[in-house]
Amino acid sequence: MTSAVSFSGVSRHFGNVRAVDGVDLDIAEGEFFAMLGPSGSGKTTCLRLIAGFERPTAGDIRLFGQSVADVPPYRRAVNTVFQDYALFPHLNVLDNVAYGLMIAGVPKPERRRRAEEALAMMALPGYGARKPSELSGGQRQRVALARALVNRPRVLLLDEPLGALDLKLREQMQDELKALQRKLGITFVFVTHDQGEALSMADRVAVFSDGRIQQVGAPSEVYGRPRTRFVADFVGGSNVLPPALTALFGGPPVWASLRPEALHLRPPESARIIGTVTGTRYLGSATRLVVDLGAGASPDGRNDIAVLVPGGHPVPDPGVRVGLGWDQGAVHPMAAE
Ligand code: ATP
Repeated sequence: MTSAVSFSGVSRHFGNVRAVDGVDLDIAEGEFFAMLGPSGSGKTTCLRLIAGFERPTAGDIRLFGQSVADVPPYRRAVNTVFQDYALFPHLNVLDNVAYGLMIAGVPKPERRRRAEEALAMMALPGYGARKPSELSGGQRQRVALARALVNRPRVLLLDEPLGALDLKLREQMQDELKALQRKLGITFVFVTHDQGEALSMADRVAVFSDGRIQQVGAPSEVYGRPRTRFVADFVGGSNVLPPALTALFGGPPVWASLRPEALHLRPPESARIIGTVTGTRYLGSATRLVVDLGAGASPDGRNDIAVLVPGGHPVPDPGVRVGLGWDQGAVHPMAAE
């Protein structure tokens, strides 16, 4: 099947900053694809390359099998929703939504009908006459989505679209976006630095670091079997074990990841691995402990390990000695550094 978006060897350099550095990527039609990574890792630049706001320094980008090297942004079957919504403050909601159709020369009655349809789809019927300043953050976000969808793009690009919303509204919008994408069946490419958001919404996640993709996979793969130390650490804060610690936990002497929730406290007298609690952090549904395994555990001095204690279980104080057990198969050797 032809990919909706395809990058081969794509780079975008600004002077000596390698914003995007040799990226190969295929996004399937109808996929909800997340680009996840820390600030400055190149996600937004990738989105701008797809939209045509940037041109690659090297490599080729295809949309639905066609190279878009010479296709200007307005001729591409994509639309972007920006983090700050970029609504026109002087236009009312209906005119904001219909703006792209006006530019495209769609006659006024059809413009109006399609804009009203898009607002109804985003659960905003009857809001057409308001100005953006008369809406809540969540409503403005929906207007921005309606404005992008009214042009019937085949790919919707979303650049941190929920970043400005509070936690509860963000979670609600995550569910709504996911449902909308399922209903419309169009390809969503979603940029975020929030791993929870990427894992909960996307069919596949690409993890970016320094302009490169470290790993692409289903959320459960990226979370459960990180390929590199960076992915293990960035996606959900896994323990990254140096070879000596991996061996202590029964694995081969290579770098490995071990999730804090796969570790369990045991009475020290019945455990093979013993350490001392050095810190506790209450997270609401669980408490994250840091356990020092002692100077002899690993020659490079990385002897701390995080353990997640589920809510309702007793939490030992700093200074207490604890034994550790772990789930079968929880130690994942990593293929690359
Ligand atoms: P954020 O989450 O903060 O938006 P990001 O992962 O989207 O980060 P990009 O915006 O793609 O990262 O930026 C990648 C790198 O390229 C950064 O170092 C940034 O400073 C640099 N960069 C981006 N655009 C330009 C530009 N027009 N000129 C010079 N450098 C740029």
